[in-house]
Amino acid sequence: MSPRRTAAAILVLLFAAFMLGGCEEGLISREDEIRMGRQAGDEFEKSNGGLVPDAKLRAFVSEIGNRVTSAAEPPDYPYEVRVLNNKQVNAVAFPGGRIYVFKGLVTALDSDPDKLAWVIGHETAHVSQHHVKKRIEQAIGYQAVIAIVFKKKKAAKYAAIVAELILRDYGRDNEFQADRLGLRYTHDAGYDPTAAVSVLEKFREIQGRDPNDFEIMFATHPGNNDRVNAVKRYLDKMGWGGKYYRPQSKPDTG
Ligand SMILES: [Zn+2]
Repeated sequence: MSPRRTAAAILVLLFAAFMLGGCEEGLISREDEIRMGRQAGDEFEKSNGGLVPDAKLRAFVSEIGNRVTSAAEPPDYPYEVRVLNNKQVNAVAFPGGRIYVFKGLVTALDSDPDKLAWVIGHETAHVSQHHVKKRIEQAIGYQAVIAIVFKKKKAAKYAAIVAELILRDYGRDNEFQADRLGLRYTHDAGYDPTAAVSVLEKFREIQGRDPNDFEIMFATHPGNNDRVNAVKRYLDKMGWGGKYYRPQSKPDTG
């Protein structure tokens, strides 16, 4: 069977197990969410190039990650930002706070700390707002995930499914929320939130030129024009200016 068919078959099995298990609503516990995210993250990391060998680059991004994720509201998670040795322009968040920044993204953003801070802030928001967790709960049901997926063998296969779920976009509203919270975390961490404008413009450029290199996180997100406009509106509202944007003061028309 092709990996895709295998994945589909496993999903069907998980759904069946979920039904048999009589799992109703309920939430994945914080501990399970963290454990699940780490296991799925480990597998994802192994099959997507591993970590970059450059220790300085790892430390550089991890430090930005520490500052930005410290600005995220509760409930807090043991956030950890890692750099994947992969040339895709992408970033992804796993449940419980593991975040991967792809090396291709670091390069595309010229290793600029402000720009990286906003992307990390966006991913952090997907975790802090439980977008990641909710998606998994909706898709498979938490008992199935916990009992079947992660307490038995073949964790690798199942972890791949979790990764696949995470790699889709979270829907328009969640993406706009993540953009907005990303701005706040970036600002509160002491970086320039207006870098978001530059990042989105860069994405538009790459998407037009090399759509195939341009994966998941951004390709499926709401249209970049809408995102840029929403980001600017939020910067206006907060009165946050910086290198890439000056907030416009709106006339008071009521
Ligand atoms: Zn997103």
